[in-house]
Amino acid sequence: MNPEQLDLRDAMEGVDEVDVVIVGGGPAGSSVATFLADRGYDVLLLERTSFPRFHVGESLLPMSQPIWEQLGVAEKLQHFGQTFKYGAEWRVARPAQDSEAPGYDKTCIRFHVVPRQSIGRRMYAYQVVRSEFDELLLRHAEERGVKVIEKASVTEVLFEDGTARGVRWSLRANEADAGSTFLTRARFIVDASGRSSLLARQLKLRLPDPHVRTAAVFGHFQGIDRERGIDSGNIILHFLEGSWVWFIPLRSGLTSVGLVANDPIHREWRQRRPEEILRTTIMSDPIMAPLFESAKTEGQVRAIFDLPYHSRKVAGDGWMLVGDAGFFVDPLFSSGVHVAFSTSQRAANAIDECLRKRSFQPLKHYAQWNRRYWQRVSGTVRRVYRLTRYRQAISFFVAVTGRYGNHWDNFYLRRINAWGLGAFDRFRLWLIGAWVFLDVLYLFGRLRHLLQGETGWESIRTKAAPTDQSQGAAAGGAVPEDALITSITARSEIDLQR
Ligand SMILES: Cc1cc2nc3c(=O)[nH]c(=O)nc-3n(C[C@H](O)[C@H](O)[C@H](O)COP(=O)(O)OP(=O)(O)OC[C@H]3O[C@@H](n4cnc5c(N)ncnc54)[C@H](O)[C@@H]3O)c2cc1C
Repeated sequence: MNPEQLDLRDAMEGVDEVDVVIVGGGPAGSSVATFLADRGYDVLLLERTSFPRFHVGESLLPMSQPIWEQLGVAEKLQHFGQTFKYGAEWRVARPAQDSEAPGYDKTCIRFHVVPRQSIGRRMYAYQVVRSEFDELLLRHAEERGVKVIEKASVTEVLFEDGTARGVRWSLRANEADAGSTFLTRARFIVDASGRSSLLARQLKLRLPDPHVRTAAVFGHFQGIDRERGIDSGNIILHFLEGSWVWFIPLRSGLTSVGLVANDPIHREWRQRRPEEILRTTIMSDPIMAPLFESAKTEGQVRAIFDLPYHSRKVAGDGWMLVGDAGFFVDPLFSSGVHVAFSTSQRAANAIDECLRKRSFQPLKHYAQWNRRYWQRVSGTVRRVYRLTRYRQAISFFVAVTGRYGNHWDNFYLRRINAWGLGAFDRFRLWLIGAWVFLDVLYLFGRLRHLLQGETGWESIRTKAAPTDQSQGAAAGGAVPEDALITSITARSEIDLQR
């Protein structure tokens, strides 16, 4: 696009030309904006919605603590009134023996056993209501000098001779308003637009994951019993065949519950109500059913399809992708928000260097690091999903790590735990060792399946107890249009955010 097309005459005062434009005000956008404003840059952040707005992704990782300290929000978060998270538990049901009640194998990673140098002085994370958490971060960015404009939707990144030079955006007072269009010129554009992946779509860089094709249904519930004492804030994951369920205890007795399933488990989900899918799956598991019996839905149960994707390129002349705009793997490790913070921290360093040196060379290192980060997380997630095909394989993994993972003297597992809690760019050799272990377990499960014809899941399924909601759907009850989110389209994005 030539310079004449960047018509600035009608632009808003003070935003016609800035150092950096950030697209999106989620954790990635607000933190990269804060880091850059702290270094004295003139930063404009454009956010499509008006905060507070709904967002999924409530379970945070302790490895974000050092970044929160650098951002200046660690203290604020400590007094923020959200649930303290000291550990994470993974469970796999065991078949009941005769009169015995059904049991489960489990592993519970406690954050205090992770090497101290990896985690910093606060050895805990939080389970947060994202609308409140994201708003805290956005207002913090404003306090640090970032100019934030809400209800401002960026429609296009503008290029001159292959270099990003500005953005076209529109401001809408309300849904009915057609909006006024503005152009802002900038020395650098950061795309932090989350799953919308504005720039990756514009440049046709976005690719689906070739191995994992997951979908999720999730909602908030009251009346779900939780663990006692220090474990009461833990996230609990229950593995099922090719899928898993999360229980995240939030404040005021609220629990976030979600089901994530790999292909082909979710193939018929688009024809069903999200709430019916969630309830039927949970009630068919002997361990989860009693937990969920008196659960009452709060708000809407939502669905999102095609979870994993990545961008072929994450940086170019004058532009960069951070957080979900660059890649998203899976909720399995609760890694998304931590990825948003760590990519933002790295991005801010690289952008600062670019602007000071007037060269885009430093972007190369960011791109290489971002790619490695994605490869390591997605390589691990893919292997865990493969294990879930065979109950004994995932059960053995959970039982062994549960038995040995929390010992201070277990040098190896402590490092693997630290990796799983967010040190995704470290412990490479240890990670390769873990991948070999996961591959061996998968082969063992597969061999057993070939010889005995069972996956091991057959023996623990109980008959699904129909719920009020599922009876309605089964009887052909109408599925409200807004209860379904289908594929990654503009519409699914709207439902995800609200
Ligand atoms: C089912 C599911 C469960 C998850 N669970 C977890 C979890 O437990 N823990 C965890 O850490 N992560 C989880 N995640 C991932 C987590 O939600 C994301 O990784 C995280 O929100 C990424 O932050 P972000 O700032 O990159 O993007 P977002 O938080 O999505 O922020 C992007 C912002 O950009 C705005 N925007 C979009 N397009 C435009 C535009 N054109 N113009 C202006 N603004 C725009 C949006 O309105 C939004 O506010 C989960 C994800 C899914 C799908």
